[in-house]
Amino acid sequence: MSIHLDQRTISPKTGSLGTRFLIYPQVPHLAGYEKPETIWISTPPNEIQAGPADQRMYVVDPLFEKPVYEYPYQPPFVGERFPPAEAGPDGHFDHLDPGSRQFVCAHVFASLRRVLDIWESYLGHDIVWHFAQTYERLEIIPQVNWNNAQSGYGYMEFGTERGNSEDVFPYALNFDVIAHEFGHAIIFAEMGTPNGMASREYFGYHESVSDLIALISLLHFDSVLDRLLQSTQGNLLTMNELNRIAELAGDKQIRTASKPENEHGQ
Ligand SMILES: [Zn+2]
Repeated sequence: MSIHLDQRTISPKTGSLGTRFLIYPQVPHLAGYEKPETIWISTPPNEIQAGPADQRMYVVDPLFEKPVYEYPYQPPFVGERFPPAEAGPDGHFDHLDPGSRQFVCAHVFASLRRVLDIWESYLGHDIVWHFAQTYERLEIIPQVNWNNAQSGYGYMEFGTERGNSEDVFPYALNFDVIAHEFGHAIIFAEMGTPNGMASREYFGYHESVSDLIALISLLHFDSVLDRLLQSTQGNLLTMNELNRIAELAGDKQIRTASKPENEHGQ
């Protein structure tokens, strides 16, 4: 399989190079990934508003604790909110302080927008949200008080990982988690939603395909490929940042995509 590795995206609609953001290809507490990297999304600077927001998605950061969405509690979020992430004077978003709330907003927006670009380029057409009849755009809640993340009807929202220490790690800074949640939205958009009760196999299918969408999305970072090949010497069966999906604090992760050699009893 050949992989298109160019980090920049030229928008087929505008011919523009798009807008710069900084994101962490893997969680910043993973060795080698402490510094965010520049990525480009296809939306040009003059089409991005504070939030960030564009024609496909927007971020709102609630000021007060917001319960997670659960039917009939649905978007849009209309309460008080923290100040949005704003572009720098050049129209790009790569100036934000990584310690700020606004950085988290820009990070989750750019990660989702980049993954949308990647999968629209594979599919060769626009991904039409499965909720398009109700909502024009995806609402992104970057931080809720919840140890999970979810992709729902018109929204995605991200909680935090609480490790053993006092530290909390926002899932909105975890590219694997973000790309995985986006995976659910792609499956709904391309294959529709189930009629009536879904089977356990259907949920299993959703989770595994979403993991693969996250894994393939991660391969679009040149830096990740370089580090991966260096650290594994090409043996991808060893535990590594590609098959460890959604690394958490310490040496934990949510899932592994391959069965490591040491579990074969060798
Ligand atoms: Zn999932």
